[in-house]
Amino acid sequence: MSELKIFLGPPGAGKGTQAIKIASEFGLAHISTGDMLRAHINNKTDLGKIAKSVMDEGQLVSDDLVIAMLVERLGSDDCKNGAILDGFPRTLPQAKSLEDIRNKFPVSKVFVFEVDEEELVQRILLRGQTSGRSDDTEESIKVRFEIYTQDTEPLIDFYNQQDKVFRIDAVGDIDKIYHDIAKHFN
Ligand code: AMP
Repeated sequence: MSELKIFLGPPGAGKGTQAIKIASEFGLAHISTGDMLRAHINNKTDLGKIAKSVMDEGQLVSDDLVIAMLVERLGSDDCKNGAILDGFPRTLPQAKSLEDIRNKFPVSKVFVFEVDEEELVQRILLRGQTSGRSDDTEESIKVRFEIYTQDTEPLIDFYNQQDKVFRIDAVGDIDKIYHDIAKHFN
């Protein structure tokens, strides 16, 4: 059984930064669906061609495509000890797709990154100066927040009902935030 830990939170909350650190410390795979999609775009695959304009606008890539990509990724050897999902699930159908594979890949914990919106916008705009990410623009950020509130935030309730939610105050010192998360890993 390979347990999945989910990092859930609005864009710019620092999920990726923490996921990389925790995954390497605890020997888990780090699966960022955003990174995977960006790799598809760079490699000019069919999926990349579909995803590019959707991502630039800040919209979500379709559930079917993202779910298929994720399930295939979970089949890799490096997921045997478990994985951190960074940016997946983002919708209820995506969360339900994980229920379908829970015998092999049960979701054990869900970390909700909490940062207020004003701070997030500043962080993302700052990141945009160096990240080269074509979706780190003011226009796209606005759409990404709306989608987060509408489609992704309801997942907190979904996982709360399963008693899996850990809320993380994701403002301030990166090492402190790291320790707040790491103490829930074993
Ligand atoms: P991220 O790097 O997680 O901020 O993701 C960047 C973009 O990739 C998002 O704004 C979406 O367009 C797309 N994306 C990443 N993960 C998902 C997902 N789970 N479902 C749908 N779209 C996604």
